Amino acid sequence: MITVTRPYFPERETFDRYVDSIFEGRWLTNHGPLEQELTRRLETYLGVENLLLVSNGTLALQIAYRALGIAQMPGQYESAEVITTPFTFIATASSLKWEGMQPVFTDIDPDTLCLDPARIESAITPRTRAIVPVHVFGNACDVEAIDALGEAHDLKVIYDGAHAFGVTYRGNSLLSHGDASTLSFHATKLFHSIEGGAIIFKRKEDLERARKLINFGITGPECIEELGINAKMNEFQAAMGLCVLDEIEGNLESRALVWHAYAQALRGNVQLQTRQTGASLNYAYFPIILESESMLLEVMQRLQQEGYLARRYFCPSLESLSFLGRPAAELQDEDVITPQIVHSTDIASRILCLPLYSGLEVSEILGAVRIIVNRHVKAA
Ligand SMILES: *Cc1c(COP(=O)(O)O)cnc(C)c1O
Repeated sequence: MITVTRPYFPERETFDRYVDSIFEGRWLTNHGPLEQELTRRLETYLGVENLLLVSNGTLALQIAYRALGIAQMPGQYESAEVITTPFTFIATASSLKWEGMQPVFTDIDPDTLCLDPARIESAITPRTRAIVPVHVFGNACDVEAIDALGEAHDLKVIYDGAHAFGVTYRGNSLLSHGDASTLSFHATKLFHSIEGGAIIFKRKEDLERARKLINFGITGPECIEELGINAKMNEFQAAMGLCVLDEIEGNLESRALVWHAYAQALRGNVQLQTRQTGASLNYAYFPIILESESMLLEVMQRLQQEGYLARRYFCPSLESLSFLGRPAAELQDEDVITPQIVHSTDIASRILCLPLYSGLEVSEILGAVRIIVNRHVKAA
Protein backbone atom coordinates (compact mmCIF):
# COMPACT_ATOMS: atom_id res chain seq x y z
CA MET A 1 0.00 0.00 0.00
CA ILE A 2 1.30 3.46 -0.89
CA THR A 3 0.22 5.68 1.98
CA VAL A 4 -0.35 9.44 1.94
CA THR A 5 2.82 10.00 3.95
CA ARG A 6 5.61 7.98 5.53
CA PRO A 7 7.85 9.09 8.40
CA TYR A 8 11.38 9.94 7.28
CA PHE A 9 14.02 7.57 8.69
CA PRO A 10 17.54 9.03 8.65
CA GLU A 11 20.74 6.97 8.37
CA ARG A 12 20.94 4.65 11.36
CA GLU A 13 24.70 5.32 11.83
CA THR A 14 24.13 9.07 12.14
CA PHE A 15 21.42 8.56 14.71
CA ASP A 16 23.62 6.11 16.65
CA ARG A 17 26.41 8.71 16.82
CA TYR A 18 24.07 11.28 18.37
CA VAL A 19 22.73 8.65 20.78
CA ASP A 20 26.32 7.77 21.77
CA SER A 21 26.87 11.42 22.63
CA ILE A 22 23.74 11.36 24.83
CA PHE A 23 25.04 8.30 26.71
CA GLU A 24 28.47 9.88 27.10
CA GLY A 25 27.11 13.23 28.31
CA ARG A 26 24.44 11.63 30.55
CA TRP A 27 22.02 14.47 29.78
CA LEU A 28 18.51 13.40 28.74
CA THR A 29 16.32 16.50 28.84
CA ASN A 30 16.02 20.11 30.16
CA HIS A 31 17.79 22.29 27.59
CA GLY A 32 20.51 19.72 26.84
CA PRO A 33 23.39 20.08 24.38
CA LEU A 34 21.57 18.48 21.43
CA GLU A 35 18.49 20.63 22.00
CA GLN A 36 20.77 23.67 22.00
CA GLU A 37 22.53 22.51 18.84
CA LEU A 38 19.23 21.87 17.06
CA THR A 39 17.99 25.33 18.06
CA ARG A 40 21.05 27.00 16.54
CA ARG A 41 20.99 24.88 13.40
CA LEU A 42 17.29 25.45 12.80
CA GLU A 43 17.65 29.21 13.25
CA THR A 44 20.39 29.18 10.62
CA TYR A 45 18.61 26.82 8.24
CA LEU A 46 15.27 28.64 8.47
CA GLY A 47 16.79 32.12 8.58
CA VAL A 48 14.96 33.12 11.78
CA GLU A 49 15.74 34.37 15.28
CA ASN A 50 14.16 33.65 18.67
CA LEU A 51 13.31 29.99 18.01
CA LEU A 52 12.20 27.88 20.97
CA LEU A 53 11.98 24.08 20.71
CA VAL A 54 9.03 22.41 22.44
CA SER A 55 7.70 18.87 22.79
CA ASN A 56 5.07 19.05 20.05
CA GLY A 57 3.34 21.39 17.62
CA THR A 58 0.12 21.66 19.62
CA LEU A 59 1.96 22.81 22.75
CA ALA A 60 3.86 25.22 20.48
CA LEU A 61 0.51 26.91 19.77
CA GLN A 62 -0.64 26.81 23.40
CA ILE A 63 2.64 28.24 24.69
CA ALA A 64 2.59 30.95 22.03
CA TYR A 65 -0.93 32.02 23.13
CA ARG A 66 0.19 32.11 26.76
CA ALA A 67 3.50 33.86 26.15
CA LEU A 68 1.73 36.57 24.15
CA GLY A 69 -0.85 36.98 26.88
CA ILE A 70 -3.95 36.10 24.90
CA ALA A 71 -4.85 32.80 26.57
CA GLN A 72 -7.55 32.81 29.16
CA MET A 73 -6.11 32.60 32.64
CA PRO A 74 -8.07 30.92 35.45
CA GLY A 75 -10.58 33.31 37.01
CA GLN A 76 -11.60 35.10 33.82
CA TYR A 77 -14.95 33.81 32.69
CA GLU A 78 -15.76 35.62 29.50
CA SER A 79 -14.12 33.83 26.59
CA ALA A 80 -11.62 35.78 24.60
CA GLU A 81 -12.27 35.38 20.86
CA VAL A 82 -9.65 34.40 18.35
CA ILE A 83 -10.25 34.52 14.62
CA THR A 84 -9.00 31.45 12.81
CA THR A 85 -9.54 29.23 9.78
CA PRO A 86 -11.93 26.27 9.70
CA PHE A 87 -9.81 24.60 7.00
CA THR A 88 -6.94 23.11 8.99
CA PHE A 89 -5.90 20.25 11.21
CA ILE A 90 -7.97 20.09 14.40
CA ALA A 91 -5.08 21.19 16.66
CA THR A 92 -5.18 24.80 15.42
CA ALA A 93 -8.67 25.30 16.82
CA SER A 94 -8.72 22.74 19.65
CA SER A 95 -5.62 24.35 21.20
CA LEU A 96 -7.54 27.64 21.39
CA LYS A 97 -10.61 26.06 22.94
CA TRP A 98 -8.41 24.02 25.34
CA GLU A 99 -6.83 27.28 26.49
CA GLY A 100 -10.27 28.71 27.25
CA MET A 101 -10.65 30.88 24.16
CA GLN A 102 -13.43 30.87 21.62
CA PRO A 103 -12.31 30.12 18.04
CA VAL A 104 -14.27 32.31 15.63
CA PHE A 105 -14.04 30.81 12.16
CA THR A 106 -13.97 33.03 9.11
CA ASP A 107 -13.98 31.67 5.59
CA ILE A 108 -11.02 30.79 3.39
CA ASP A 109 -10.15 31.96 -0.07
CA PRO A 110 -11.39 29.10 -2.31
CA ASP A 111 -8.22 29.22 -4.44
CA THR A 112 -5.35 29.61 -1.95
CA LEU A 113 -7.29 27.73 0.79
CA CYS A 114 -5.87 30.15 3.38
CA LEU A 115 -7.89 32.63 5.50
CA ASP A 116 -9.40 35.37 3.35
CA PRO A 117 -8.21 38.65 4.93
CA ALA A 118 -11.24 40.48 3.51
CA ARG A 119 -13.51 38.43 5.79
CA ILE A 120 -11.52 38.87 8.99
CA GLU A 121 -12.31 42.51 9.74
CA SER A 122 -16.10 42.12 10.01
CA ALA A 123 -15.62 39.31 12.56
CA ILE A 124 -13.62 41.50 14.96
CA THR A 125 -15.49 42.35 18.20
CA PRO A 126 -14.35 43.99 21.45
CA ARG A 127 -13.60 40.47 22.73
CA THR A 128 -11.23 39.59 19.87
CA ARG A 129 -7.68 39.11 21.10
CA ALA A 130 -5.82 37.53 18.21
CA ILE A 131 -5.78 36.08 14.70
CA VAL A 132 -4.45 32.54 14.13
CA PRO A 133 -4.07 31.91 10.40
CA VAL A 134 -2.58 28.71 8.92
CA HIS A 135 -0.17 28.47 5.98
CA VAL A 136 -2.18 25.49 4.85
CA PHE A 137 -0.24 22.84 2.87
CA GLY A 138 2.75 25.19 3.09
CA ASN A 139 1.01 27.90 1.03
CA ALA A 140 1.75 31.37 2.36
CA CYS A 141 -1.18 33.34 3.79
CA ASP A 142 -1.62 36.93 2.68
CA VAL A 143 0.77 37.93 5.47
CA GLU A 144 0.92 41.63 4.57
CA ALA A 145 -2.85 42.07 4.82
CA ILE A 146 -3.16 39.96 7.98
CA ASP A 147 -0.21 41.58 9.76
CA ALA A 148 -1.71 44.99 8.90
CA LEU A 149 -5.10 43.96 10.36
CA GLY A 150 -3.38 42.83 13.54
CA GLU A 151 -1.59 46.14 13.78
CA ALA A 152 -4.68 48.26 13.03
CA HIS A 153 -6.87 46.48 15.60
CA ASP A 154 -4.20 45.81 18.20
CA LEU A 155 -4.54 42.03 17.85
CA LYS A 156 -1.76 39.48 18.21
CA VAL A 157 -1.08 37.40 15.11
CA ILE A 158 0.13 33.82 15.53
CA TYR A 159 0.69 31.86 12.34
CA ASP A 160 0.29 28.10 12.56
CA GLY A 161 3.20 27.21 10.30
CA ALA A 162 3.02 23.45 10.92
CA HIS A 163 3.09 22.85 7.14
CA ALA A 164 5.47 25.67 6.25
CA PHE A 165 8.88 24.32 7.26
CA GLY A 166 11.53 26.08 5.19
CA VAL A 167 9.11 28.17 3.13
CA THR A 168 10.43 31.60 2.14
CA TYR A 169 8.33 34.56 1.12
CA ARG A 170 9.87 37.35 -0.93
CA GLY A 171 13.33 36.15 0.01
CA ASN A 172 12.80 35.92 3.79
CA SER A 173 11.50 33.15 6.00
CA LEU A 174 7.70 33.03 5.92
CA LEU A 175 7.94 32.15 9.61
CA SER A 176 9.28 35.57 10.56
CA HIS A 177 5.80 37.11 10.14
CA GLY A 178 3.36 37.89 12.94
CA ASP A 179 4.06 38.09 16.66
CA ALA A 180 4.88 34.39 16.53
CA SER A 181 4.84 31.43 14.15
CA THR A 182 4.70 27.80 15.20
CA LEU A 183 6.02 24.58 13.66
CA SER A 184 5.18 20.91 14.17
CA PHE A 185 7.92 18.30 14.04
CA HIS A 186 5.59 15.32 14.25
CA ALA A 187 6.88 12.11 12.59
CA THR A 188 4.55 12.58 9.63
CA LYS A 189 5.72 16.10 8.85
CA LEU A 190 8.33 17.09 6.26
CA PHE A 191 10.89 17.75 8.99
CA HIS A 192 10.48 15.85 12.25
CA SER A 193 11.93 15.02 15.65
CA ILE A 194 9.59 12.02 16.27
CA GLU A 195 7.32 14.41 18.21
CA GLY A 196 8.29 18.02 18.56
CA GLY A 197 7.66 21.57 17.58
CA ALA A 198 8.98 25.10 17.72
CA ILE A 199 7.83 28.67 18.22
CA ILE A 200 9.50 31.55 16.41
CA PHE A 201 8.91 34.82 18.20
CA LYS A 202 9.22 38.29 16.80
CA ARG A 203 10.43 39.67 20.15
CA LYS A 204 13.16 38.31 22.37
CA GLU A 205 11.18 39.06 25.57
CA ASP A 206 8.33 36.80 24.38
CA LEU A 207 10.84 34.01 23.77
CA GLU A 208 12.23 34.43 27.28
CA ARG A 209 8.75 34.29 28.81
CA ALA A 210 7.93 31.15 26.79
CA ARG A 211 11.19 29.51 27.86
CA LYS A 212 10.02 29.92 31.45
CA LEU A 213 6.49 28.67 30.69
CA ILE A 214 7.68 25.39 29.13
CA ASN A 215 9.55 24.55 32.34
CA PHE A 216 6.74 24.97 34.91
CA GLY A 217 7.44 28.68 35.34
CA ILE A 218 10.64 27.78 37.21
CA THR A 219 13.45 30.31 36.96
CA GLY A 220 15.86 29.11 39.65
CA PRO A 221 16.42 26.48 42.35
CA GLU A 222 13.77 27.88 44.74
CA CYS A 223 12.07 30.24 42.36
CA ILE A 224 8.75 29.54 40.61
CA GLU A 225 7.77 32.81 39.02
CA GLU A 226 4.44 32.08 37.40
CA LEU A 227 2.02 29.42 36.20
CA GLY A 228 3.78 27.15 33.75
CA ILE A 229 3.57 23.71 32.18
CA ASN A 230 5.97 21.06 30.89
CA ALA A 231 6.60 21.42 27.14
CA LYS A 232 10.32 20.73 26.87
CA MET A 233 12.00 18.86 24.04
CA ASN A 234 14.21 15.96 25.16
CA GLU A 235 17.63 14.93 23.83
CA PHE A 236 16.38 11.91 21.86
CA GLN A 237 13.90 14.10 20.03
CA ALA A 238 16.67 16.61 19.33
CA ALA A 239 18.97 13.79 18.10
CA MET A 240 16.34 12.70 15.58
CA GLY A 241 15.79 16.31 14.54
CA LEU A 242 19.53 16.80 13.94
CA CYS A 243 19.74 13.65 11.77
CA VAL A 244 16.67 14.59 9.75
CA LEU A 245 18.08 18.08 9.27
CA ASP A 246 21.43 16.60 8.13
CA GLU A 247 19.54 14.90 5.29
CA ILE A 248 16.94 17.55 4.53
CA GLU A 249 18.25 18.40 1.04
CA GLY A 250 17.87 14.82 -0.22
CA ASN A 251 14.42 14.60 1.39
CA LEU A 252 13.31 17.77 -0.42
CA GLU A 253 14.80 16.67 -3.77
CA SER A 254 13.02 13.34 -3.60
CA ARG A 255 9.69 15.01 -2.77
CA ALA A 256 10.17 17.66 -5.44
CA LEU A 257 10.39 15.01 -8.19
CA VAL A 258 7.05 13.51 -7.19
CA TRP A 259 5.43 16.91 -6.56
CA HIS A 260 6.38 18.19 -10.02
CA ALA A 261 5.34 14.92 -11.67
CA TYR A 262 1.87 15.25 -10.09
CA ALA A 263 1.66 18.93 -11.00
CA GLN A 264 2.63 18.35 -14.62
CA ALA A 265 0.25 15.43 -15.12
CA LEU A 266 -2.71 16.81 -13.18
CA ARG A 267 -2.73 20.53 -13.96
CA GLY A 268 -5.78 21.20 -16.13
CA ASN A 269 -7.36 17.89 -15.10
CA VAL A 270 -8.24 18.75 -11.51
CA GLN A 271 -8.24 21.95 -9.46
CA LEU A 272 -4.95 22.58 -7.66
CA GLN A 273 -4.26 24.97 -4.78
CA THR A 274 -3.28 28.42 -6.10
CA ARG A 275 0.14 29.22 -4.68
CA GLN A 276 0.86 32.65 -3.27
CA THR A 277 3.27 34.48 -5.58
CA GLY A 278 6.64 35.12 -4.01
CA ALA A 279 6.46 32.03 -1.77
CA SER A 280 8.77 29.05 -2.22
CA LEU A 281 7.59 25.44 -2.38
CA ASN A 282 8.46 22.88 0.31
CA TYR A 283 6.73 19.90 -1.35
CA ALA A 284 5.03 18.95 1.90
CA TYR A 285 1.59 18.02 0.47
CA PHE A 286 -0.14 17.50 -2.85
CA PRO A 287 -3.85 18.28 -2.53
CA ILE A 288 -6.29 17.97 -5.43
CA ILE A 289 -9.84 19.34 -5.53
CA LEU A 290 -12.43 17.22 -7.33
CA GLU A 291 -15.76 18.41 -8.81
CA SER A 292 -17.91 16.90 -6.09
CA GLU A 293 -17.82 14.74 -3.00
CA SER A 294 -19.27 11.78 -4.91
CA MET A 295 -16.47 12.10 -7.47
CA LEU A 296 -13.97 12.25 -4.62
CA LEU A 297 -15.34 9.09 -3.03
CA GLU A 298 -15.23 7.28 -6.35
CA VAL A 299 -11.63 8.37 -7.04
CA MET A 300 -10.57 7.45 -3.50
CA GLN A 301 -12.06 4.00 -3.83
CA ARG A 302 -10.39 3.34 -7.17
CA LEU A 303 -7.08 4.58 -5.79
CA GLN A 304 -7.44 2.19 -2.90
CA GLN A 305 -8.18 -0.72 -5.25
CA GLU A 306 -4.87 0.05 -6.95
CA GLY A 307 -2.97 0.27 -3.66
CA TYR A 308 -2.98 4.03 -2.99
CA LEU A 309 -4.17 5.40 0.33
CA ALA A 310 -5.04 9.05 -0.27
CA ARG A 311 -6.45 11.03 2.66
CA ARG A 312 -9.17 13.66 3.02
CA TYR A 313 -7.14 16.55 4.44
CA PHE A 314 -8.89 18.51 5.81
CA CYS A 315 -12.33 17.15 6.46
CA PRO A 316 -14.60 18.08 8.17
CA SER A 317 -14.48 21.85 8.04
CA LEU A 318 -14.02 22.73 11.72
CA GLU A 319 -16.98 25.10 12.16
CA SER A 320 -19.14 21.95 12.03
CA LEU A 321 -17.70 20.55 15.28
CA SER A 322 -20.11 21.40 18.09
CA PHE A 323 -17.50 21.00 20.86
CA LEU A 324 -15.59 23.92 19.36
CA GLY A 325 -18.71 26.10 19.29
CA ARG A 326 -19.92 28.68 21.75
CA PRO A 327 -21.76 27.81 24.95
CA ALA A 328 -25.51 28.16 24.46
CA ALA A 329 -25.67 31.15 26.84
CA GLU A 330 -23.25 33.14 24.70
CA LEU A 331 -25.21 32.41 21.55
CA GLN A 332 -28.13 34.41 23.00
CA ASP A 333 -25.87 37.44 23.16
CA GLU A 334 -26.76 39.82 20.35
CA ASP A 335 -23.26 41.07 19.65
CA VAL A 336 -22.05 37.56 18.96
CA ILE A 337 -21.04 37.33 15.33
CA THR A 338 -21.21 34.00 13.53
CA PRO A 339 -19.54 34.42 10.16
CA GLN A 340 -20.90 32.45 7.23
CA ILE A 341 -18.65 29.60 6.12
CA VAL A 342 -19.21 28.55 2.53
CA HIS A 343 -15.89 27.87 0.83
CA SER A 344 -14.26 25.86 3.60
CA THR A 345 -17.25 23.49 3.86
CA ASP A 346 -17.33 23.09 0.11
CA ILE A 347 -13.57 22.52 -0.31
CA ALA A 348 -13.43 20.15 2.69
CA SER A 349 -16.04 17.94 1.02
CA ARG A 350 -14.00 17.39 -2.15
CA ILE A 351 -10.29 17.76 -1.41
CA LEU A 352 -7.87 14.84 -1.35
CA CYS A 353 -4.17 14.69 -0.48
CA LEU A 354 -2.15 12.34 -2.67
CA PRO A 355 0.76 10.16 -1.49
CA LEU A 356 3.92 12.23 -1.15
CA TYR A 357 7.04 11.39 0.86
CA SER A 358 10.77 11.09 0.48
CA GLY A 359 11.69 7.83 -1.26
CA LEU A 360 8.44 7.56 -3.22
CA GLU A 361 9.40 7.07 -6.88
CA VAL A 362 7.74 8.88 -9.77
CA SER A 363 7.15 5.49 -11.39
CA GLU A 364 5.11 4.44 -8.36
CA ILE A 365 2.59 7.27 -8.67
CA LEU A 366 1.78 6.84 -12.37
CA GLY A 367 -1.10 4.50 -11.56
CA ALA A 368 -2.65 7.11 -9.26
CA VAL A 369 -2.24 9.82 -11.87
CA ARG A 370 -3.94 7.63 -14.48
CA ILE A 371 -6.94 7.01 -12.22
CA ILE A 372 -7.35 10.73 -11.52
CA VAL A 373 -6.94 11.82 -15.14
CA ASN A 374 -9.40 9.16 -16.34
CA ARG A 375 -11.88 9.71 -13.52
CA HIS A 376 -14.83 10.21 -15.85
CA VAL A 377 -14.20 6.85 -17.50
CA LYS A 378 -16.01 4.31 -15.37
CA ALA A 379 -14.24 1.08 -14.55
CA ALA A 380 -15.34 -1.69 -16.92
C1 LIG B 1 0.38 18.65 12.71
C2 LIG B 1 -0.30 19.92 12.93
C3 LIG B 1 -0.41 20.51 14.21
C4 LIG B 1 -0.07 19.76 15.47
O1 LIG B 1 1.22 19.39 15.62
P1 LIG B 1 1.62 18.17 16.57
O2 LIG B 1 3.12 18.24 16.53
O3 LIG B 1 1.10 16.91 15.95
O4 LIG B 1 1.07 18.42 17.91
C5 LIG B 1 -0.97 21.77 14.31
N1 LIG B 1 -1.42 22.44 13.24
C6 LIG B 1 -1.37 21.89 12.00
C7 LIG B 1 -1.89 22.70 10.86
C8 LIG B 1 -0.84 20.62 11.81
O5 LIG B 1 -0.83 20.08 10.58
